[in-house]
Amino acid sequence: MSHEAILWERLADDDLRVRCNLCAHRCVIPSGQLGACCVRENVDGMLVTLVYDRTISQNVDPIEKKPLFHFQPGSRAFSIATAGCNFRCTFCQNWEISQLPREGSVIPGNPATPRQVARAAQRAGCASIAYTYTEPTIFAEYALDTAREAIALGLKNVFVSNGYMTPELLHLMAGLIHGINVDLKAGRGEFYHRISGGALEPVLANLKLIQQLGIWLEVTTLVIPGLNDSDDELRWVAHYLFSELGPDVPWHISRFYPQYRMSDTPPTPAATLERAWQIGRDEGLRYVYVGNVPGHDTESTRCPACGTIVIERVGYQTRVRALRDGKCTRCGTVVAGVAMP
Ligand code: SF4
Repeated sequence: MSHEAILWERLADDDLRVRCNLCAHRCVIPSGQLGACCVRENVDGMLVTLVYDRTISQNVDPIEKKPLFHFQPGSRAFSIATAGCNFRCTFCQNWEISQLPREGSVIPGNPATPRQVARAAQRAGCASIAYTYTEPTIFAEYALDTAREAIALGLKNVFVSNGYMTPELLHLMAGLIHGINVDLKAGRGEFYHRISGGALEPVLANLKLIQQLGIWLEVTTLVIPGLNDSDDELRWVAHYLFSELGPDVPWHISRFYPQYRMSDTPPTPAATLERAWQIGRDEGLRYVYVGNVPGHDTESTRCPACGTIVIERVGYQTRVRALRDGKCTRCGTVVAGVAMP
């Protein structure tokens, strides 16, 4: 079922073409055509979303799976997605649903109103709703309406995103979306252009704006052998995070597994991930985590001052060990985050 989109404009009164201002592609879409994400259509001069009310996934996940390690740690997030994405990463780990509208020309999904989703989240004992698996920017109307319902029930909302939304959308999200994990895929624009079909600059600008808007931010970099695993590139990313966003932004270094159009590339060696972890720490980041390696000893959160393990993680099992009111119980140092125990 179609639903009028937000953030679009007609190019001229006597022109049926519209510009979508939801993400940095800012597609100009002729009447009867789709935007680059293939889930927004110009219908006789009006932009509509084709994924409102159409969930393709609904799961109860640990918040750590997003990954968000400093946002209501140990809680559960009711996680939803629709089909579609504004990127076309050749390594996408969820390509079966993210690329379906583009590759299969179909938009599957089960009807669920924002109120139904929020109530289901509450019934499942979740502390938040996560808009995740695919790119939530492309289902922003649905996500923001659901976020309003969730807030009315006392729940928080989080995005797991490529960070390619427009500043206009980020301003609409402020106050509704409380936390975001953004993929910073590389430190080179060429990577974004060639591998993802996007650009780096809008993502970098959004990282800063997210913080300015008071939305909790964590960053993930999927480290892919031969593509973005050089010391120089990893150091560039770590240094950018530290110098532009500060030492408290958590950085998740995630292991690549062969997927989609990169099924011939081997998984990231543990040594590469550990090298990236060391680079992050050397650059001054206080919270650096190796991800997608269950049981890795960097999964736990340590006090940035005395090194005590304050939150222990083994896979998705989370245990608060030495934290009270967000402070290390050994030395009293504040551990950054939202609703820290
Ligand atoms: S969300 Fe992005 S990709 Fe989709 S139509 Fe709008 S500008 Fe284009």
